[in-house]
Amino acid sequence: MIKLDDALNELVIANRILANENVVDAYGHVSIRNPDKPERFFMAHMLATPEIVERTDILEFGLDGELVSDSRTPSIERFIHGGIYEARPDVAAVVHAHAEDTLPFGITNVPLRPVIHSGSFIGTQVPVWDIADNFGDTDLLVSNTAHGRDLARCLGKNHVVLMRGHGFAAAAQSLIDVIRLSVYLPRNARVQLAAMRLGDFKPLSDGEVAARFARYKPYSAQTWRAWQYWAKRAGCGHMVGKSPKS
Ligand code: MN
Repeated sequence: MIKLDDALNELVIANRILANENVVDAYGHVSIRNPDKPERFFMAHMLATPEIVERTDILEFGLDGELVSDSRTPSIERFIHGGIYEARPDVAAVVHAHAEDTLPFGITNVPLRPVIHSGSFIGTQVPVWDIADNFGDTDLLVSNTAHGRDLARCLGKNHVVLMRGHGFAAAAQSLIDVIRLSVYLPRNARVQLAAMRLGDFKPLSDGEVAARFARYKPYSAQTWRAWQYWAKRAGCGHMVGKSPKS
């Protein structure tokens, strides 16, 4: 099990990677489940923009989105994270962002499919959640527990859920998994959009996606190399450990 200190250090790095790779901007967030207390999760407070997040910016929440002990302003959409952790005991890390290339697939009937090998981790199905289905006209923000639970229900057992007219939420069994997924998701979307301008496209088959998952290990040397690469690009390579954890 990852030690809490290492986990929080990785969460700082993850914030900066997501900002540097243009997955998040001033909005959007990444969280991790507390490795020692599964009924809690960690996420930076609202005014800390991801590219400059420090350890002191990280707050702890219950799954109901309530702060454990802090008076700083939490992100309004913390209910995305709480809802997913509550519904999915297997999930250890969550990202929510508004990456532009994913948005067309949330407002049309064209499903987002895995079309490149690095995009395989989005899984074979990417459902679209429409907040209007159960809540009518809202400001589209996931701003309470009912919204968060409804979103988590739509995510189901999948890895990513698109949010109509808003963005996406991604969930995975480790922080590195969810960062990798969130970095390649917009790239996969861009490739699919480009292919659709040319004509019909061929997505990865279900068997190919399964084969990618079967081979993948979150703390393998290969994956660690990608984590080091992204961290270095984001200016925080010095914060990354030298070798993957066992
Ligand atoms: Mn949002």
